[in-house]
Amino acid sequence: AGRSLGQSVIPIVNKLQDIFAQLGGNSTIDLPQVAVVGSQSSGKSSVLEALVGRDFLPRGNEICTRRPLVLQLVHNIKDSQEWGEFLHLPKKQFYDFSEIRREIEAETDREVGANKGVSDKQIRLKVFSPNVLNITLVDLPGITKVPVGDQPSDIEAQIRTMIQSYIKHETCIILAVSPANSDLATSDALQMASIVDPDGSRTIGVITKLDIMDRGTDACRFLLGKVVPLRLGYIGVVNRSQEDIAHNRTIAEALAHEENFFRSHPVYHGLSDRCGIPQLAKKLNQILVQHIRMVIPGLKARLTAQMVAVGKELNTLGEITESKASQGAFLLNILTKYCEAFAAMVEGKNEEMSTT
Ligand code: GDP
Ligand code: MG
Repeated sequence: AGRSLGQSVIPIVNKLQDIFAQLGGNSTIDLPQVAVVGSQSSGKSSVLEALVGRDFLPRGNEICTRRPLVLQLVHNIKDSQEWGEFLHLPKKQFYDFSEIRREIEAETDREVGANKGVSDKQIRLKVFSPNVLNITLVDLPGITKVPVGDQPSDIEAQIRTMIQSYIKHETCIILAVSPANSDLATSDALQMASIVDPDGSRTIGVITKLDIMDRGTDACRFLLGKVVPLRLGYIGVVNRSQEDIAHNRTIAEALAHEENFFRSHPVYHGLSDRCGIPQLAKKLNQILVQHIRMVIPGLKARLTAQMVAVGKELNTLGEITESKASQGAFLLNILTKYCEAFAAMVEGKNEEMSTT
């Protein structure tokens, strides 16, 4: 724990989301969606899994992700265990995450057959956990050039259109995943991201497979943004190899291996703020904090307006609504406290809640 996505901002963001949820209506803090883009087998599903900290996505050296997977993380403290639920199988709770993976594979096959077919029809999965933020992550099929199996001749165009439909939204954070063992300057991920986010204000570059680069080469210049500059910068990662998958290596083992790889590497140990899944999680957290900071004043204004309305109602109805009004005042009070705590966190005054 402590490494995964949102970990450091979870307590305060969840509290804020709870407060707004109690008020009902449209007063919620919607965190931006996070989507992965890149060519096939670049490591997109591996990166998402590592961020979530659970094993549940189909991964492999062939086309595995063949339908968009919309993964909604739901903060849930009613159950100390984590479990998943699919939209297409309501009421069936999956406590075994490898069973979730099998269901994703089976549901993919049901829609598009077992022969490498691809579809833009979503699979929707909710994961309920006490350790997550309410945020949506999207795993997408990768860009592929040559049709195989049941794929149509225009497979590349179809997949590009599908990816665009997710990443074009201004609120979508793009993880542009490029493998270090192919030419980074011609990365499909960076090319696609630059179409929808030309100033790079919501694209994070992720370079995978740093462990299997050609001997004598490294991704240093790329990580430093000297090849393709990116405003939010790059993070290099080492995920599990196909062999690790075959041997059922756990995420914890993978993270330990990654940490060791970077610590002992002659080039990367000097770039430690740009290397590793924990650094990627940290970067994402900072972006989320930035986002929340921007939406809080508007939410607060809406809340105050709601309070005034309740106050007026109280005046006309007398004691009947008194409890409602005092409940409103109580919530506004908590909210104000949290806004202040949040501001302190953003400014780094509150160590416990800071993003480091
Ligand atoms: P996707 O198609 O982009 O979702 O890629 P996957 O996550 O399915 O990974 C494709 C293959 O690359 C799998 O066999 C992974 O084990 C392997 N892989 C992914 N990331 C890395 C990495 O950083 N290092 C190594 N050695 N293999 C990786
Ligand atoms: Mg995938």
